Amino acid sequence: MNYQWYPGHMTKAKRQMMEDIKLIDLVIELVDARVPYASRNPEINDLARNKARIILLNKVDLADESKTVKWQKYFEEEGFTVVKVNSKSGAGLKLIQGAIQESCKAKIERDKRRGIKNRPVRAMVVGIPNVGKSTFINSYAGKAATKTGNKPGVTKGKQWIRLNRSLELLDTPGILWPKFEDQKVGLHLAMIGSIKDDILNTEELALEVLMFFQSEYPGNLKKRYGIEESKKWVDMLSQIARVRQCLKKGEELDYVKAADIVLDDFRNGNLGRLTLEEP
Ligand code: GDP
Repeated sequence: MNYQWYPGHMTKAKRQMMEDIKLIDLVIELVDARVPYASRNPEINDLARNKARIILLNKVDLADESKTVKWQKYFEEEGFTVVKVNSKSGAGLKLIQGAIQESCKAKIERDKRRGIKNRPVRAMVVGIPNVGKSTFINSYAGKAATKTGNKPGVTKGKQWIRLNRSLELLDTPGILWPKFEDQKVGLHLAMIGSIKDDILNTEELALEVLMFFQSEYPGNLKKRYGIEESKKWVDMLSQIARVRQCLKKGEELDYVKAADIVLDDFRNGNLGRLTLEEP
């Protein structure tokens, strides 16, 4: 899905976030493991001041494992509790309960001191569009969870999903906005297909992908398309157009079609697991 962001959209999302965040103890922030930098908005640090925090590195099935380990370490050093997950398959979700206990230790202790017993942790999921928030909520909360009704002080229509005795999750995720001022962020989000691309056209994006693979993951393009890899990226695109028979009328090569193939393969993980950013 493509998203267009404009200031109106942004302030509405932000206002909603500021309201919802008052209701919770714990922020579960989803980050795309392929672009952990581009898929975060650091303003969340300000919005979530004084809240327990967890970072879920999502879509780890598509990301480069060794780089995911580096990112996990990086975020842990920043003080976050981190869990690597694949929300689509459910892999890694089992570790979340432990992470919640760990990140909410202070709150649980405080409750204990005050004689409050068994007050569930209230959590909300946040992240930029397309990072996998709905997929995560569905697979984590799943069918087993019961929805509890509206509670006093909660925006009308807001529901809590009761996962177990110690956890309640707000059923609507908080939407963070991407930080578009940074050109690289826009490029990376466009490459993974998270935003509608206004910066580059399909062919230029595909060339960025080819450039990236040729230098960072040599061999993957050859393996997928049977082409010779070189620094002549346009030449690689025309090789792909030829082997995949992307032709216009009159045998002319159809670069747009070839570019679409490259982008689809890239986004679906057919070119191999990759991470675009290093901590
Ligand atoms: P939201 O906008 O943040 O709610 O994102 P969605 O839940 O709609 O997910 C966006 C896309 O990412 C969907 O096509 C999901 O199937 C896909 N997705 C979500 N989580 C994962 C994951 O862990 N691995 C993979 N491969 N795809 C995922």
